[in-house]
Amino acid sequence: MDPQQAYVYCPRCKAKLDLFEYKKVTCAKCGWLFYFNPIPCNAVILENDESQILMVRRATDPFKDYWDLPGGFVEVNESVEESIVRETKEETGIDLDPKELQLFMTTWDRYLYKGIKDYTLGLIYSARLNNGEKPIPADDVSETKFFDHDKIPWELIAFDSIRMILKRYLSLKH
Ligand SMILES: [Zn+2]
Repeated sequence: MDPQQAYVYCPRCKAKLDLFEYKKVTCAKCGWLFYFNPIPCNAVILENDESQILMVRRATDPFKDYWDLPGGFVEVNESVEESIVRETKEETGIDLDPKELQLFMTTWDRYLYKGIKDYTLGLIYSARLNNGEKPIPADDVSETKFFDHDKIPWELIAFDSIRMILKRYLSLKH
């Protein structure tokens, strides 16, 4: 369901909510107001010296066992760059230098979790990896692998937005 359908009662005063609009919901009783803003998340395209792209296999739903880029949700009190450094370390063990990260593009998608399709805003960066950097899968990742540009597993990519981003990235390289 959409997030608009997931809110039934006001979380502040517990009154039944009925003032739903496309962008927001307001509690008529106490005035509580909630905007359905997108949740910021990140992903990073990491290429090694052989121009292979590092991908991670998701160990959890949504899209368990599908291939994804390293990344995740931006947490409170961190920049997008800090978030990418943290997520990449958690999922692959690789230490990135935040100064090496270049913003590639932004996009949007939906993230289905426990029956609710959240709105997401994707902030996609790219960086080069030092030669010989060896990723080790951890956290919510079961496998890591470098893919040649012509061997990307298009049918097994987790999110439509990630597939679109990789196609855009490769179209600029070739
Ligand atoms: Zn209320």
